[in-house]
Amino acid sequence: MAEQRHAIIAGAGIGGLAAAVALSRAGWRVSLLERARALEEAGAGIQLAPNATGVLNELGLLDRVMEVATTPENLRLRRASDGLELARFPLGVIAEARWGAPYAVIHRADLQAVLLERCAKDANITLSTGATVTGFADHAEGIEVAVLQEDGTRRIEGDLLIGADGLRSTIRGLLGLGKADAPIWSGRTAWRALVPMQQAPPEVRKLETTLWLGPKAHLVHYPLREGELINIVAITEDDWRGEEAKDLWEISGEPADVSPRFSSWHGDARRLVRAAPSWKRWPLFDRQPIRRWTYGRVVLLGDAAHPMLPFFAQGAAQAIEDAGALGRAFKQFPHIPDALSAYERARTARAGAVVVASRRQGTIYHMSGLLALARDLTMTSLSQHMLMARLDWLYNYKGQT
Ligand SMILES: Cc1cc2nc3c(=O)[nH]c(=O)nc-3n(C[C@H](O)[C@H](O)[C@H](O)COP(=O)(O)OP(=O)(O)OC[C@H]3O[C@@H](n4cnc5c(N)ncnc54)[C@H](O)[C@@H]3O)c2cc1C
Repeated sequence: MAEQRHAIIAGAGIGGLAAAVALSRAGWRVSLLERARALEEAGAGIQLAPNATGVLNELGLLDRVMEVATTPENLRLRRASDGLELARFPLGVIAEARWGAPYAVIHRADLQAVLLERCAKDANITLSTGATVTGFADHAEGIEVAVLQEDGTRRIEGDLLIGADGLRSTIRGLLGLGKADAPIWSGRTAWRALVPMQQAPPEVRKLETTLWLGPKAHLVHYPLREGELINIVAITEDDWRGEEAKDLWEISGEPADVSPRFSSWHGDARRLVRAAPSWKRWPLFDRQPIRRWTYGRVVLLGDAAHPMLPFFAQGAAQAIEDAGALGRAFKQFPHIPDALSAYERARTARAGAVVVASRRQGTIYHMSGLLALARDLTMTSLSQHMLMARLDWLYNYKGQT
């Protein structure tokens, strides 16, 4: 019997963890290397669009995810100035029937826990924390990866290195793509908070995802953990790039930094923002899409391959799509270069389109004056069916390789 092939994954974020599961299912042994000392509760809520839950289903993870996820009944769009409902369409069973998989919202820590639990049960997967990938040497017969740990640097031999190491990917940096490949600052900041449902204003205690559109800002909120919490993401335009931060998840913002920005908004939004006890602050970057993600035995995945702005809530969803595609490619093509080419063919144009669409969506969400008026008129004139049809290209993903 041929020796089991060995993949080394740099980064145990949602992308790296999902890729470990996908590769194990394709028969690989996986070493998952994570820089952080411990994978702790990080971040807040995350929307899992049907294109992501479809792949989680394919990976055998969806039932467990849905045990800890919430399915909002509707998506509502409201105008910031007066609260006018601009649009509404159903999520729940109607969305699932249309897109073939559920739309869900989940605490990031709960999704991470499901993925970690699955990896821990799998004899093919070994996770090391406090392990930073610092370099690699790609030989014809294999790849040697340098890993810095507390007790020094060691080298691991494998057949493949997957760079799933996020926006500021070390692996991508080592591919020699040049200065033009640097992260691009968007001029926007995301503020994130969790509010206990009982402390939220009664008007927003609903099983809904609500998107508020205001001039140069927008706000999204949805319930988490069976309605125990409301997750808020507020995006504003700001001259702040987060240079002072080592770990982007850890930057705090004061309630007094956020509330005044929403003081002219409708009372429902204003009161919800005021109810947030504390905020995390996140500078938003993406990168120019690239057409090549594979370099010999090195391949990029998730934010390392296609960091995007969160206006379609698709970064993790695209990372999950990548993981599914990589697993599928290795099931279909035994030869590594063939599988990597198939992965690249399946993924680069799709993820690049989502990067570009996310930028455009940001411009639309943050319009002001006459442009905002025209946008709002268009939205109010669209039927529920038309609104949902606009998302078909994104959510109706069936993951062909
Ligand atoms: C405000 C905001 C809201 C968002 N909302 C959504 C949403 O609703 N839905 C959605 O789908 N997406 C959303 N996203 C995007 C999503 O969070 C990211 O796209 C996703 O988490 C990327 O996952 P990843 O695994 O590729 O990278 P990361 O989560 O960044 O993970 C990379 C991992 O690699 C580790 N690492 C880094 N360097 C090394 C190294 N050299 N060696 C070893 N390990 C290393 C890091 O510690 C980290 O654990 C949102 C993003 C933001 C900012």
